[in-house]
Formats: sequence, C-alpha cells, structure tokens
Amino acid sequence: MYKAKAYSAQSATSRLESASIVRRDPTEHDVQIEILFCGICHSDLHQVRNEWSGLMPTVYPCVPGHEIVGRVTKVGSAVTKFKAGDLAAVGCMVDSDGTCPECKAGLEQFCSNLVLTYNSPDKHLGGVTYGGYSDAIVVNERFVLRVPGNLDLAGTAPLLCAGITTYSPMRHWSVAKEKKVGVVGLGGLGHMGVKFAHALGAHVVVFTTSPGKREDALRLGADEVVISKNADEMNKHAGSFDFILDAVAAVHDINAYLNLLRRDGNLTMVGAPQQPIPVSVFGLLFRRRSFSGSLIGGIAETQEMLDFCAKHNITADVEVIPIQKVNEAYERLVRSDVKYRFSIDMASLKSE
Ligand code: NAP
Ligand code: ZN
Repeated sequence: MYKAKAYSAQSATSRLESASIVRRDPTEHDVQIEILFCGICHSDLHQVRNEWSGLMPTVYPCVPGHEIVGRVTKVGSAVTKFKAGDLAAVGCMVDSDGTCPECKAGLEQFCSNLVLTYNSPDKHLGGVTYGGYSDAIVVNERFVLRVPGNLDLAGTAPLLCAGITTYSPMRHWSVAKEKKVGVVGLGGLGHMGVKFAHALGAHVVVFTTSPGKREDALRLGADEVVISKNADEMNKHAGSFDFILDAVAAVHDINAYLNLLRRDGNLTMVGAPQQPIPVSVFGLLFRRRSFSGSLIGGIAETQEMLDFCAKHNITADVEVIPIQKVNEAYERLVRSDVKYRFSIDMASLKSE
C-alpha cells in the first residue's frame, strides 16, 4: 500500500478538500497510473451531494472522478497491454466478474458485480473505491484503455465518461447519414453528443435552455438550434426525429421531446435526474415511439470510441482548472455554466 494525494468530501454538504488516501500496490494484473487530467462529470456532483441516495447512497469520505487520463508508472508481472511510460485512461468502471453473460457480451457496465471507479466496495483494501481526483490510481488492466497519441490529453479525459455515454447509444440506435438527431442539453455529455452525431453524418438539432449557447452549438456541429422554452420553435419539429439523446441532469418535460419523434423514433435518456420523470403513454402509442435509457458503454466499445475520436480528431472542449477550483466548478455546473467540461490538471495537487 502507498499514500496518494486526493480531494475528498466528508459529507453531502461539505466542500471537497485535500486529503491523503491509500492505494494498493499493483498486483500481477494491475496497472499503476500517475493521473494527469480528470474531467468533472455531473455524476460526480450528484454522488458527492448524495443526490442518488435511494439507489446509490454515497459512502464518505468520497473521492469522485471517472474521466481519468494519465501515464503508466508500474505494471504487474502478468500485464501484457501496458508498460511504464505509456499513456493510459480509466473511465467509470474498474472491475467486473468477467464471467456473466453481460461481461461475455462486452457489456461490463451491466454486470451485477460491477465495481465502479468510486463509491463501490473495494475488495482489495476494504471500504469503497476512490476515483480520479487524485494523483494516482491502480486498476486491473482489463479496465485500462489505450490513449491515441494524437489527442490533447486534457480534452481526452472527458471522453472516458461523457464521450462513451453519448457514443454508445448513438451506435446502438444507428445514428448515421440521412438521420435527424436531436441532442437535449448542451453540457458535458450534450456537447460530445453533438460532435459524435455530426461526425456520424446526421442532421443535428440541439435543444438548449440557454440562448447564449446558440453560436457554440453551431460551431460544435449542430445544423439547427432550438431554444426549448420556445413552444413555436419546438412545434416546428413535431414528428420529425429519428433519434433524440437527452443529457439533462434535472427533471424536465420529457413529453415535449417524445412528441418530436417520427414513427418508430427513439428517445434515449442518459441524463440521470434524482426524481422520476412522468412519461405520457399516449406519446409512445402513437407512432410506436420508444423511450429508453443507456449507461456508459463497455470496455471494447470505449476503446472503439477513443479510436474513432483519434480518426476524427475529436476531444471535449475543456476549461482546464487546478484542483483548488473544484468547488467553484461544481457551483458553475449547477448553473449550467460550463463550456463544456471542466478538466482538472492534476499537477495542481503537487502543491497540497
Ligand atoms: P452538465 O455538464 O451539467 O450538463 C447538463 C445540461 O443540462 C446543462 O448544461 C443544461 O444545458 C441542461 N440543463 C440543466 N438543468 C436543466 C433544466 N432544469 N432543464 C433543462 N435543461 C437543463 O451535466 P453532464 O455532466 O453532461 O451530465 C448530464 C447528466 O447525465 C447528469 O445527470 C449525469 O449524472 C448523467 N450521466 C449519465 C451517464 C450515463 O451513463 N447514463 C453518464 C454520465 C453522466 P442547456 O444550458 O443547454 O439547457
Ligand atoms: Zn460521468
């Protein structure tokens, strides 16, 4: 075991503060990584503030962070995919049983023995796993991703959650040329959704509550922007979408979007508001529409997404911050004031 620097929260109402944590020495299948950048996902905020207390209660102290990019410092004797000095990345998962049908299908995110990067029981050290707001992490090589050499590292970190969470449902629902695709909420996930839908050749419409984001949406790859509070603008698109990805972190009127789907259209929810959302069944019956959810993506698909990003030169638009600004960044997330992902430069932990 060795000590690592981190930022942790002691309770649902406390600020994140500097802390010392313990990491395991790498076992034979482990990769030890010096963390260079970690993105800030709205899920970090939900978890730190125990907003998902019903389903995933937070165990304190909580060290969040699951958009991790770094450099390998050491590998276990059986590791074949990595060596010291390589770039490496870790997303939302650090272990699974590897034997269930979900794991065998490459859908580790649905394994009932999934170990999340933070706030999951830690079978090595006891307590819970600690995430990427830290200078180091040790992860089984099955859950470590290769980072393409040509991508900016600060902008690559968010691909490990915001990237795969938007890429996976778009592939699943066959987003492609000739398809009309909506993206609801231009935050960390939403802006990645726009980039992917555009790169896949779709006609992309962004729905935002923030009129000030219109120009950015177009620059990111949207063909049209709708201010969702404007009913007339919304009605113009009634019955016309093949697919809509909803990446909103708060409760909102989902039926307004279901009505925009064409026959057999699908709306996939990736946003995870804490309260249930009412769904109008009639909105689904007419035109045989479907409403579904999606959770991150499997490891193989995450690697595919990173390679897709390398080929299309896609990274997140990031505001790089020192870890000392993390609490301020959380307040800005709540106000939808993020362009479009905070990425923590972990070199800033050295001064703690
Ligand atoms: P984020 O950066 O805070 O973006 C959320 C965006 O939603 C905001 O920028 C805003 O966009 C819009 N929004 C916020 N409040 C709203 C409201 N009351 N009504 C309508 N729109 C509102 O968050 P994120 O990191 O992208 O995460 C989004 C959600 O996805 C979170 O709930 C997170 O936990 C969840 N998530 C799920 C998965 C998964 O696997 N399913 C993975 C990661 C994250 P506009 O200003 O454009 O309106
Ligand atoms: Zn996330």
